[in-house]
Amino acid sequence: MSWQSPISPGISWYEASVPERPSYPPMAGSRKADVAVIGGGYTGLQAAYNLAKEGVDVTLIDACRFGDGASGRNGGQFGTGQRAWAEDLEEVVGRERAQLLFDMAENAKRYVLDFAREHAIDMEFVPGQLSVSHKDSLEKEYRRHVEVMAERFGYPHLSFMDREETAVRLGSSHYRFGIRDAGTGHIHPMKLVIGLAKQAALAGANIFEQTKALKIDRKGGVVLIETERGTITADRALIACNAYIGNLEPVTACHVMPIRSFIGATTVLTEHPGVLPGGESVDDSRFVVRYFRKSKDGRLLFGGREAYTADNPRDISSHIRRQIGEIYPALADIEITHAWGGTVGITMPRQPFCREVMPGVVTIGGYSGHGVMLSNFCGKLYADLALGKDTPLDLLKDLKIPAFPGGTRFRSALLFLALSWYALRDRL
Ligand SMILES: Cc1cc2nc3c(=O)[nH]c(=O)nc-3n(C[C@H](O)[C@H](O)[C@H](O)COP(=O)(O)OP(=O)(O)OC[C@H]3O[C@@H](n4cnc5c(N)ncnc54)[C@H](O)[C@@H]3O)c2cc1C
Repeated sequence: MSWQSPISPGISWYEASVPERPSYPPMAGSRKADVAVIGGGYTGLQAAYNLAKEGVDVTLIDACRFGDGASGRNGGQFGTGQRAWAEDLEEVVGRERAQLLFDMAENAKRYVLDFAREHAIDMEFVPGQLSVSHKDSLEKEYRRHVEVMAERFGYPHLSFMDREETAVRLGSSHYRFGIRDAGTGHIHPMKLVIGLAKQAALAGANIFEQTKALKIDRKGGVVLIETERGTITADRALIACNAYIGNLEPVTACHVMPIRSFIGATTVLTEHPGVLPGGESVDDSRFVVRYFRKSKDGRLLFGGREAYTADNPRDISSHIRRQIGEIYPALADIEITHAWGGTVGITMPRQPFCREVMPGVVTIGGYSGHGVMLSNFCGKLYADLALGKDTPLDLLKDLKIPAFPGGTRFRSALLFLALSWYALRDRL
């Protein structure tokens, strides 16, 4: 029987498509460490791996099992750059920083691919990404983006797709045009989690599942992390809980808003060879982004985001099936074999959030739906920081990320209203 994450609804197809995953023990009693890491998704596990391989004594805890948050359950799409387009970032942070942030994301892409290659982790990387528009009005912007990326940001892998090419590559005439990115791709996210946890343990990191941090404090020059299974005393700590932070640490909670995203996996599309014949992944121009791709065994994995109130797998399936039917009418009645959700951490400007929240305690998250490559790399960059190396993490620290308005009591309600408004605009 596949494992059901206690913090995210539904058993994912990823979970069901891997052999039983190795489990790691809960922490048994109090311990000391040079560095403590809270959260065993990509961010935390990469930090632990990179620290341990340099001989640092690191202890990582996760409240559930590794990958039970976003890292084991996401759409698997790398994308390119930061969540915001580079030219839009340029308007906010200036030319030089926009380039540095773009380069950071390219390095992130390279880092994850090299990491998987080096450790023979078969994360099923498939190249190619299509970003498609559901509105005619965006054509000028899309064409311009292709030019700007090649001419100003040195990224030559984008090409504009007209309506005909878009329809052929998607196997659907639903979208108006799009951009093809030959410099990125998509992966099986849980396979990366499993391989990464294994490498962290092999490198000597002390990694524990089913161990929830209850409180973080700084006293007498050390960081104290109280858990239900003892206290960790460390010189420094990384909070890598992202959208699952809950009440553990208020600065992260005020800046990283949890929103839920849902994915459905269909049966294998044997009778529909025209759907994504090139195997690329797709994301669309809606505010409530639809993102989809085919799995290696030929299923459609289709994600859409809504501010749903119900979250049981049956509700997820019916919403996802309706969205699939809008794009692929021939699949309107397709069986959804697996339906699941997870929580994405978003920030107000959709840029990552990195801050020292108390002396020696850094939090990183809020990748805003763009964290598959960035979170892995940020975990590595945190390790570099702790090792006293030069790191571009300061670029993220310098981003001006405002807190969500409304305080802890009202921000969810305000966000719900805002999301509903934008979701409504998608339909106009
Ligand atoms: C449905 C979905 C689809 C997505 N699709 C994409 C995509 O296609 N492309 C993309 O780039 N990004 C995507 N994302 C986002 C991406 O998955 C995340 O940005 C990334 O996985 C974040 O990794 P993380 O390690 O920071 O956080 P997570 O993987 O969420 O890990 C946080 C961990 O912290 C643990 N934790 C929380 N509180 C405590 C505590 N008190 N004590 C101990 N442990 C604790 C949790 O158990 C969890 O394991 C998607 C996310 C979701 C949910």
